[in-house]
Amino acid sequence: MHISDGPDQVICPLAADGRYKVCLLRRKIDKNPIPNLLQLKVIWSKLIPIKVRTFIWRAAQGRIPSDLALASRGVNIDSSYCGSCINGLECVNHILIRFPFATLVRFKILRWCNIQDFNAQNVGDIIEFAVTWGRYPKKRTRFVAICYELLWILWKIRNERLFQERSCTIARAVENIKSMVYVWVKC
Ligand SMILES: [Zn+2]
Repeated sequence: MHISDGPDQVICPLAADGRYKVCLLRRKIDKNPIPNLLQLKVIWSKLIPIKVRTFIWRAAQGRIPSDLALASRGVNIDSSYCGSCINGLECVNHILIRFPFATLVRFKILRWCNIQDFNAQNVGDIIEFAVTWGRYPKKRTRFVAICYELLWILWKIRNERLFQERSCTIARAVENIKSMVYVWVKC
């Protein structure tokens, strides 16, 4: 960006004429893949609403606005520690995986699917497990939808707790996940 006395100018360094085009950025990203994206196979199933798919894609890269992410971007926040359990920095993996509430909801959802809980440490572990689970593609897609909805609901509950001071029980969270996935499959 060139700021001068006259009109300001925004120049895209990817283009010879300085004009930004989406295809130029796409080419740049393809040439310099982010290691995380290469390793993670995020399923873009049409069964799952696009806002949820996009959320998972961002969460897998640690790109959701957790307290830690905001602090690292220079946003002034009181503390980067989790305000609910005071048991670690509030990063994406704490909110969606390691937070005791998240662990219990995941445990109940996996048990509902008749799948044994496994030692997930981060969002990537859940995605990796879901996209390689089972032998039947249709069943797998539904299981992926359940896992995506699990992470999405946990994020929504965290935001409701933080911004609307609304709490949620484990049983209600589990019921919400079940009913939402049912709606996705039916619609
Ligand atoms: Zn916590």
